[in-house]
Amino acid sequence: MQGSSIHQEDVDVLIAGGGVAGTAAAAALSQLGLRILIIEPDPAQGRRLAGELIHPPGIEDLCRLGLLDDRAMPGSPVKGFAIFPADRSSVILCYGERPGIRSLGRAIEHRILKHHLLETVQRFPGVTAHIGARIARIEGNREGPFTAVVHCNGAEIRIRPGLMLGADGPMSRVRKMIGISHETRRYSGMVGVEVEDTHLPNNGYGHIFLTSAGVAYAYAIGNGRARIMFEVLKGADSKESIKTHLELFPTALRHDIERVLAKSKPLAAANFCIVPNTSIQGNAALVGDARGCCHPLTASGITAAVKDALILRDALAETDFNIAAALRRYARRCGRLELTRRTLAEELREAFLAQTPEALLLRECIFSYWRTSAKARVRSMALLSTVDTSIFSLATQYGTVALQAFSLLPLWFLERSVADWHRGVIKLIHKSLAFQYAAIRQWLH
Ligand SMILES: Cc1cc2nc3c(=O)[nH]c(=O)nc-3n(C[C@H](O)[C@H](O)[C@H](O)COP(=O)(O)OP(=O)(O)OC[C@H]3O[C@@H](n4cnc5c(N)ncnc54)[C@H](O)[C@@H]3O)c2cc1C
Repeated sequence: MQGSSIHQEDVDVLIAGGGVAGTAAAAALSQLGLRILIIEPDPAQGRRLAGELIHPPGIEDLCRLGLLDDRAMPGSPVKGFAIFPADRSSVILCYGERPGIRSLGRAIEHRILKHHLLETVQRFPGVTAHIGARIARIEGNREGPFTAVVHCNGAEIRIRPGLMLGADGPMSRVRKMIGISHETRRYSGMVGVEVEDTHLPNNGYGHIFLTSAGVAYAYAIGNGRARIMFEVLKGADSKESIKTHLELFPTALRHDIERVLAKSKPLAAANFCIVPNTSIQGNAALVGDARGCCHPLTASGITAAVKDALILRDALAETDFNIAAALRRYARRCGRLELTRRTLAEELREAFLAQTPEALLLRECIFSYWRTSAKARVRSMALLSTVDTSIFSLATQYGTVALQAFSLLPLWFLERSVADWHRGVIKLIHKSLAFQYAAIRQWLH
């Protein structure tokens, strides 16, 4: 950089990214008495859609970290989900049906959430943030220790921390700079607008509408406003997609949305599944979406990012700050959580959107499972909200859901084809067994 001065800043932990993952990690590690520096290039980040709905465990963890406060929390409470399939009546999944955990999640407009977290964390002992700065390069061999070159106010700062965290989101540059490769799958796009929250049909719930155009969401975000998001599948026209989504919306809400769309351009985002080949390298670790992300159908990205921070804090404390041992522990525990979260999101997405016989059958099985049993709803909500992160639980529930197919046989006999039912059942049983195998393999590992 021309005309720049070069400083060396000594910190224990350097965090690239001041989003949910970066601020949660800073708050958690500050509890261990470490000196932490956050590098955040764009605190406003208001041009894209991102996560807003936080499950009760995420809210609980953010409160425990001191980043949210029950007495003055931004946003709007969320009781659970109202799910509207195109061809059946809606189903309500409620957090409160499970005793012993916080019964409300929260939806907070993303910019407000990010601003709140970044402001709050800078008051924590040992935490400093360079806002408007970015990690430009990382030096060092693959085994570390890494030196970060940060561009800040026209100056170049070199920082060699004990621990470096890549919390710079799904497209993480830090991940690339420290030599971690990844697999990417782009599912679809997402467009969204804000409207008044008065015509949301189920007050206090996150609404999920399922049509052939993909998934659409509607939820209150506080101050009388609601976020509406529409999925736009690969190759689809966004105007046509929105039209298809809106067919399932109640009339008054649809009119509100159409009025806003006529006046303003919607925000956009892309839905990716990103699976890095590892979450640690040398003295660096990835947290939040940089460590991996999946389709936002389960709305679990923020909750999982906060869990990463807590897992990392605990691993450091348990290993007496032996970075290598702590990072290995972190990678193992996060890997378990992520496998369950990603598998659940992928299976639900396939069941809700694909048109294969097994997806249609699975979709019927899932709704029948939820409609007929309160216990089933509680178990599903535990997995969705990351209260339960066990791949064994997911495998068991998948098997139980698949068994619903037998009670649906008479219906399929009347309305569809028995041959499709047969094909579907075989595929579901096969997949159930594959999950059990994955669960056992993970347990052995
Ligand atoms: C359309 C959509 C809807 C979603 N809905 C939900 C939902 O309802 N609930 C939910 O829990 N999750 C949801 N998610 C997922 C959620 O947004 C993410 O899981 C969450 O924001 C991850 O936080 P993060 O801090 O890891 O990443 P980000 O929020 O992406 O933050 C990364 C930060 O790194 C900074 N950065 C970038 N480059 C650099 C650099 N070179 N140096 C330093 N810093 C850098 C960025 O400015 C940014 O502040 C959704 C995602 C999408 C796309």
